Amino acid sequence: MPAKPKTKTKVALRRQPAKTPARKHAAKMPARNKDARTPARKHAAKMPARKQEPKYVYAFEEVRLAERVAGSWDGVRGLLGGKGANLAEMTKLALPVPPGFIVTTEACKSFLAAGEKFPTGMWEQVLKAVKDLERAAGKKFGDRANPLLVSCRSGAKFSMPGMMDTVLNIGLNDTVAESMVRLTGDERFVYDAYRRLIQMYATVVMDLPREPFEKLLSDQRSRRGVWNDAELPAEDLKAITEGFKKIVQQEAHRPFPTDPVEQLKLATMAVFRSWNGKRARDYRAATGIPHDLGTAVNVVAMVFGNLAGDSGTGVATTRNVTVGENELEGDFLMNAQGEDVVAGTRKTLPIADLGKEMPKAYKELQRIARTLEKHYREVQDIEFTIERGKLWMLQTRDAKRTAQAAIRIAVDLVKEKLITKADAVKRVAPDHIDYFLHPQLEAAARAKAAESGALIATGLNVSPGAAIGQIVFDADTAEHWSKKLGKKVILVRAETRPDDVHGMLAAEGVLTSRGGRTSHAALVARQFGIPTVVGVMSLEVNADRKQMRTQSGQVLKEGDYLSLDGGTGEVFAGEIDTVVPDVTDPYLVQLLSWADSIRTLGVWANADYPRDAERARKFGAEGIGLCRTEHMFFEADRLPIVQSMILARTPEERAEHLAKLLPIQRADFAGLFKAMDGLPVTIRLIDPPLHEFLPNHDQLMKAVVELETRIRLKDGSAEELERELHGKRKMLENVEAMREQNPMLGLRGVRLGIHMPELVRMQVRAIMEAACACAKQGGKVKPKIMIPLAATSKELQVQRELLEEEIRQVLAEQKVKVAYQFGTMIEVPRAAIVADQIAEYAEFFSFGTNDLTQMTFGVSRDDSETGFLSEYLQKGILEKNPFATIDQQGVGYLIEVGVKLGRGRRKNLEIGICGEHGGDPASIAFCHRVGLDYVSCSPFRVPVARLAAAHAALGDVKDQR
Ligand code: PEP
Ligand code: MG
Repeated sequence: MPAKPKTKTKVALRRQPAKTPARKHAAKMPARNKDARTPARKHAAKMPARKQEPKYVYAFEEVRLAERVAGSWDGVRGLLGGKGANLAEMTKLALPVPPGFIVTTEACKSFLAAGEKFPTGMWEQVLKAVKDLERAAGKKFGDRANPLLVSCRSGAKFSMPGMMDTVLNIGLNDTVAESMVRLTGDERFVYDAYRRLIQMYATVVMDLPREPFEKLLSDQRSRRGVWNDAELPAEDLKAITEGFKKIVQQEAHRPFPTDPVEQLKLATMAVFRSWNGKRARDYRAATGIPHDLGTAVNVVAMVFGNLAGDSGTGVATTRNVTVGENELEGDFLMNAQGEDVVAGTRKTLPIADLGKEMPKAYKELQRIARTLEKHYREVQDIEFTIERGKLWMLQTRDAKRTAQAAIRIAVDLVKEKLITKADAVKRVAPDHIDYFLHPQLEAAARAKAAESGALIATGLNVSPGAAIGQIVFDADTAEHWSKKLGKKVILVRAETRPDDVHGMLAAEGVLTSRGGRTSHAALVARQFGIPTVVGVMSLEVNADRKQMRTQSGQVLKEGDYLSLDGGTGEVFAGEIDTVVPDVTDPYLVQLLSWADSIRTLGVWANADYPRDAERARKFGAEGIGLCRTEHMFFEADRLPIVQSMILARTPEERAEHLAKLLPIQRADFAGLFKAMDGLPVTIRLIDPPLHEFLPNHDQLMKAVVELETRIRLKDGSAEELERELHGKRKMLENVEAMREQNPMLGLRGVRLGIHMPELVRMQVRAIMEAACACAKQGGKVKPKIMIPLAATSKELQVQRELLEEEIRQVLAEQKVKVAYQFGTMIEVPRAAIVADQIAEYAEFFSFGTNDLTQMTFGVSRDDSETGFLSEYLQKGILEKNPFATIDQQGVGYLIEVGVKLGRGRRKNLEIGICGEHGGDPASIAFCHRVGLDYVSCSPFRVPVARLAAAHAALGDVKDQR
C-alpha cells in the first residue's frame, strides 16, 4: 500500500520571528504537573532505593532476560553484541550451540572509561558463569581428568569482520595438554591447539610481533618439505609449541601464563582493548559505526574441527551472496580450526562437497540454514564446526552481499512470503541500484582481448563490476597513488588482511591469488562494492619484488595496467573498454516496480536531447523536468549561427540568424516530444550569459598579441596575417563590450529574455510549432515553458505577456489546439521569499537548487568545489557539500517557505526540483518531507531516485534536522 506522505512541516513565514528549536519543542510539551505521577510511581518514590549491581554477564540461555532489560532485539544486539545475541538466540531455537556466556558491551565501556579496569563485580560474575559453563559442558577449567577449553571472541553490535581480537583454546598448559593427549589419544591435535593458543595469546594479549612465530612455522614446514601446517606431524607441533614458549620468554621477558583463569582474564581485557585498536577505528570511520558502542566478549566452550577422524570446520551463507541464487554456498576444510578457512592459507573445498564427505552433517547444516532464514527472515552467514561427526553452530549473522544478490534475495524473500514488498524495498540501498548503472567490460573489447591472449587468469568472482587500473602491490601505495597522484589502481595481494582495508577502499578493484569466497578480501569488497577477484591460484604474487607472474610466465610489474571483471572472475592484462549495463535485470525491474507503488514523489529527468530522454524514459522517468535549451546551441554546426545572432548590429540582421536557428530548435523539441509521448516536457528558455557562446576573452587577447608579433617579425604572408588580426580585433571588441565582472549575477536568465525578446520568442515559437506538428500526427504533447532566474513577479509578468503573444500567433497559424503551461525556476532567494507573488504568473515552480545554493551561501558553484569548500569539509566547518546534498537549514528553509507561499497563492501549483540535488537520496527525503510533487535528475540517477523516493515514503531515511 502506498504510504501517506508525512504531514508537511509548518514553516515560519516572512516577518514572523522563527521559533528556535527549543521554543518549538517547549510549545509542543505538555505543562509539567507535579501531581501527575501515577500511583505506582508515587509508591516507588516512597520505597527506599535498593542497590542493585549491574548485570554484566549473560549465559546463552538468558536471552529472554536480556530482551526484558534491553527492551528490543536491537537493544539486545547493543548489549550482547551481534555475535552473542545470535548465539543466545540459536540456543533458544534449540540449535546445537556449545555452552557459553557473554560479557556485555556495558562492561567494555566501563572498562575503557575507567582506564582499562573491570567494573566492580564483573569478574566475580564471569567466574560464576565459568562454573555454570563447566557444569553445562561436563568439563572443568584446568582439570586433569576432563579439561575444559574455551574461546574468547569479540562481538560488537555491528559486525566488524576481523577488526577486533579473538583468542582460541584458552585453558591449555603443559599439564592439561598431557592429560588431553591421554584422553584423545591424539597428540597431533593437542599440540596443534596448544601452539595456536600460544601464538594467538602472544600476539593479541601480549602484543608481541607476529613474525618470529610465523618464521618458526615456515622453517619447520621447509624442513619437512610440506606446504601447510596440517601436514606437520605431532612431534613437529610439540617442538613448535616449545619453540613458541621460548619466543614468548625472549620477546616479553616473562613466561607464557599457565593459569587458565589468568589466561581468560587477560584475554578478556585484550578483546575489550581491541575495540580501540587502529584497525577497528579505521573500519568504523569508513562504515559509519559509532565509536562509543563497545564490544562484548563471548566465552564459549571449544569444539574441535581439528580432531582426527570426521572433523572439520567451515563458513557458509544460506544463499549465494554474489548473484543471489537460493543455494547454500561456502567453503570448508577437514581437520582444521576456523581461522584456517578464512585465512586462505589452505585450499578450501566447496560446501557442496561436504555432502559427500559427511552426508549426515551436511543435511543437518541445510536444515539449520533453512531454520535460521525463516527465523531471521534474512540470508545468514554461518560458521560451523564438526567434531567427530557432530555439527556445532559457532555463529550466525546477516550476510553481506553484492548489489546484484541484495536485489535478487529481497525479491525472492517476498516470493517466499518471508518479508513484505515494503521490507524488500527498504532492504535495498540506493548504492545497490547504482551498481546496475556502473561500467562493465564491453563484450566485443573483452572478446578481442581474450583472443589476443590478454586473459591471463581466472579466479573467484566475488564482487561484480569492471575495474581498470594500474597494478600496486601494497595498501599504502594504493592509497598514495589514488589519493595523491589521482591514478586509478588495482590492489594485487596474495591475500588481504584487515590492515589492507584503506588500500582496498582507495582501489578501483582488488585481486588476490589466495582465499575463498569468504576470505577477508571477498567480504570487504562485497560490503563496499569494490569489483574483486580472489583465489587466482595460477598467479604468483611477489609483493617484495613488486611483480606477479602468470602461469605462462608473463611478468606484470607495479604500474602495469590490468582489467578485472568481478562478475566473471576474469583477469586481463591491459586496459579494456567498459560499458554501462542496461537496467533490465528482472529482479531489479520487479523491485523498482514495488518502489514505484510505494513512493508518492514523482521522478522526472533532466534531459536535453532525444537520446537522453529515451534513456530516461527507459529508466522510469515520468517526465522531463529540465531541458537546458542552450546546450543545443553549443553544437559545432550551430555555434557560428548563434555567435552571428549575438553579434548582429541591426534587428534585421539578428532576425536573419534567428530564422536559421528556428528549424533547428524545432527539430530538437519535436524529438523530445516524440520520445516522451504523453509525458510532460519542461523546456527552459535560454539561461546563461551570452558571452559563454563567444570566444574566450583572454585567449582572444593572446591571439591578437601573437598576430601583432608575427606581423612585426614578418612571419608569414602580411596580407593574411592582417586579415586574421582584423577579425580577431573585431571579435575582441565585441566580447569586451559584453564583458561583465560577475556574469553569473549579470545578464542571464529572464533578464536576457527581457533584454533580447526576439531570442526567446524564437524559442517559444520553436516549442509550439514542434508541439503542434506532434499533435497533428496524433501524439500527446504536454509542453511546459520554464522561465529561469526570475526574482520579481513583474519580470515574469512582462516576459509571459510577450511570449503568450507569440504562442497565440503560432496556434492561429497552425490551426490546432495544444495546451501548455508557463512556470518558473526558483533560483534566487528573493523568488522564494516572494513566492506568493511569483505564483500569480507561474503554473509551476522548479527549484533550481544549484543556483539557489550558490546564491544563498554567496559562494561560486563553479570555483568553490575545487577550492575552499574541500577545506571547509575537511575542517568540519561544513558537514556536507551543499552542492551535493541540500543544506536543509538554509537553502531547505527557503524551499519550505517557497512551497508554502506558492501553494498559498495557487492551490494546485505543481512544484519540483531540477538542481543536481534531485538525484541525491538525502535531498530526495527532504523533498518528500516538504511536499514537492517530483524530483528531476540525470537519467542515470532515475532508478536510484525511484528507490530513494520509496524509502522517503516509508520514513526510512532520516533527514538532517
Ligand atoms: C539550477 O540552478 O539548479 C539549475 C538546474 O540550473 P543550471 O544548473 O542550469 O543553472
Ligand atoms: Mg540555474
